[in-house]
Amino acid sequence: MVKKVKVEKAKSDKSSCKKCQKKIGFGELRAGIDCWMGGRTVTAWLHMKCMAECFKFDRCKGKGKCKLSAETMEKGEARLELAREYTGIFFKLKHSGAALADFLKEKAMDPKSIKGYKVLATTERKLLWKPRNTRRA
Ligand SMILES: [Zn+2]
Repeated sequence: MVKKVKVEKAKSDKSSCKKCQKKIGFGELRAGIDCWMGGRTVTAWLHMKCMAECFKFDRCKGKGKCKLSAETMEKGEARLELAREYTGIFFKLKHSGAALADFLKEKAMDPKSIKGYKVLATTERKLLWKPRNTRRA
């Protein structure tokens, strides 16, 4: 299953944010990720702002799989982690821009502002998406 962050306007006011537990209002933009919970796939919804706070760079502690490409990741390889507390989902650095594409369209983020950026080597930083305001036409 391909997993990436999706963004939509809330279709009801019944969802609540997995991070802050507060309600997401009807029509408010929300960010979601599909995850496996209790034997079925459910979408975990978060406020845009709360989702942004869930991104983190770190290194694999064992073998794993990129959730977007399903490619194997080796221990020690750098990754972008997403809301680990709720989803346990992570991506290869080179796929992180694609995994977050819909999200970044609504909320531009500089990779430098994400937790853990300091652990990345220069070559690894080059794999990340370019912040929109510095992109050349
Ligand atoms: Zn929230």
